[in-house]
Amino acid sequence: MKDWLKSDLKYIWHPYTQAKEALRLPPVLIKRAKGIKLYDSKGNFYYDTISSWWCNVHGHNHPRIKEAIKKQVDILEHVLFAGFTHKPAIELADKLIALTKHKFNRVFFSDNGSTSVEVALKMSFQYWHNLGNKKKTKFVSLDYGYHGDTIGAMSVSGLDLFNQVFSPLLYPVYKVPSPYCYRCPMKKERSTCAIDCIKPLEKLLKEKHAEICAMIIEPLVMGAAGMIIYPKEYLKQVADLAKKYKIHLILDEVAVGFGRTGLMFAYEHVPKIKADFLCLSKGITSGYLPLAVTLTTQEIFWAFYGDYEKRKTFFHGHTYTANPVACSAGLASLKIFKEEKTMQKLSKLVPFFHRGLEKFRDLDLVGDVRHIGFIAAMELVKDKKTKKGFGLKRRMGLEVYRRALKENLVLRPLGDVIYLFLPLCTSKAQIKDILERTYAVIKSLS
Ligand SMILES: *Cc1c(COP(=O)(O)O)cnc(C)c1O
Repeated sequence: MKDWLKSDLKYIWHPYTQAKEALRLPPVLIKRAKGIKLYDSKGNFYYDTISSWWCNVHGHNHPRIKEAIKKQVDILEHVLFAGFTHKPAIELADKLIALTKHKFNRVFFSDNGSTSVEVALKMSFQYWHNLGNKKKTKFVSLDYGYHGDTIGAMSVSGLDLFNQVFSPLLYPVYKVPSPYCYRCPMKKERSTCAIDCIKPLEKLLKEKHAEICAMIIEPLVMGAAGMIIYPKEYLKQVADLAKKYKIHLILDEVAVGFGRTGLMFAYEHVPKIKADFLCLSKGITSGYLPLAVTLTTQEIFWAFYGDYEKRKTFFHGHTYTANPVACSAGLASLKIFKEEKTMQKLSKLVPFFHRGLEKFRDLDLVGDVRHIGFIAAMELVKDKKTKKGFGLKRRMGLEVYRRALKENLVLRPLGDVIYLFLPLCTSKAQIKDILERTYAVIKSLS
């Protein structure tokens, strides 16, 4: 038999991976998957507890998504999307707009989360330009925010570990403190605070709004930062400030869209929120094929409309834009939401999941437990009183990852934060089993 792993280590450059560590801990060769379980070439199973990087929604090998994909491949696999169109894209745009209850009513397709963000940033910038306002050239974002790995998306991100080396390439962005309650930037307690962390943003917008195009934010959960879950009130105030100071609001729901927080979109936790852009990707095809969308409003759209020589056109597009097979997978996923009553089932399981997380608070190494919907995070600390973390050198995350694999779990900590990002199809018995195994992994560390 061919030694596939040997060839992998010889020829492949894996994302977010230190190859030196991969020598000691080679990648797991996955052969097949079903539901929330991955199976390796030796027959071991692993719970896909992080939804294969936050994209799987209804489980692997779902018969209805497979069928939709197979059917579409037989009809039309791909066609360029400028000057041509097709039913899967039109139908998906239609359904997405309806899902947002017409809060957004234009859809721009692309093929990954970073590009959906780039599209929103460029559209916002050019909107002001097309209106004759050339002074608005800046963006605002949060410390520790994450919006993708392309240069533009990195510029509005705030994770130094990923981005610092590239800083000379990034354009300047106004960064404000993030609502990280466990490590409050204002040194307050959540139980008594008045969302004081909004103040730096308020001050910035008051002084600089004339030069700011937009603010970009991950609604309610700052994913890559370590699943920082923040108060709805903060998001509400951000939206109010954006409105007051007439800047665009870009909601980056690439990670949290499609049910993760217990509602279809995380922004729905703030019922009357007004925003100008919505970026969606990871869960859009339930993790079957790459696809992304940037939703916006008619108001933004019409600012780009006019005679060609007026140079109002949005000159942007990706080759695989609105791929029909990916759109069909997206449509099948939305259909499953409806017909299998995914969100109703989820709302019954969420309290059970959250109750099960409470006991993690007793563990010596767990400084904070936070959760929303089917997302949960346990922040590990050396000392609960000082909240001191373990730091880069200790490689606590790698240690957790290795032990978790032995417990049939895929835990890929973000720094010192262990998290679960469960597929929405996870059953009650599976939740129980996953929590027990996760508990055992953390307990074994102390
Ligand atoms: C993953 C992610 C992105 C980038 O998506 P890719 O498909 O990896 O390019 C952007 N924003 C958020 C919030 C994400 O979690």
